Amino acid sequence: MTRLHVYGFKGVSTDLLLELTMTITSRFSQFFSPVKMHPVRLPVPFDSYDPVRSQYKASPFLWVISTQIAAQCCGLGIVNQDLYTKELNFIFGVAEKGGNAVVAIPRLCQKPTSSDLAFERIKKVTFHELGHVLGLDHCDNDCVMVFSNSLEECDQKPETFCSSCQQRLAAVNG
Ligand SMILES: [Zn+2]
Ligand SMILES: [Zn+2]
Repeated sequence: MTRLHVYGFKGVSTDLLLELTMTITSRFSQFFSPVKMHPVRLPVPFDSYDPVRSQYKASPFLWVISTQIAAQCCGLGIVNQDLYTKELNFIFGVAEKGGNAVVAIPRLCQKPTSSDLAFERIKKVTFHELGHVLGLDHCDNDCVMVFSNSLEECDQKPETFCSSCQQRLAAVNG
């Protein structure tokens, strides 16, 4: 069983981290145990900010997480900055197979009708990135592993894994 460490970067609320950690604990009990939330916020990496874009590079956040944990553990970082990668203008999250993941919450909290909807989105992106950590690729079924790069796409997809992704999760991590 893989240990999962949940970190909040500066500006992320304890309530959100607690709720997310509880949700991950119940939904991923087959794959991650224990799921441990760290109470101390990680600093925003100084080399991540791009003043031209007014955005933050995702990779330094992944690197900060990698410095925190042992090799056989996985880390999830919740980030309160707007992130981008080389390939994409912005990202909701990014993950390394068998490694670490980050989820960026600012865009997921945009034009929500309620804080519940914002949490639904954060949960879906988190489950999606943890799916990648556990070895899944993107999926075309009615599945949380559908690639989504807009709030509409994120809101449309379910928070669950389709049966073929579930089978693959069990085969790779069972
Ligand atoms: Zn993805
Ligand atoms: Zn799927």
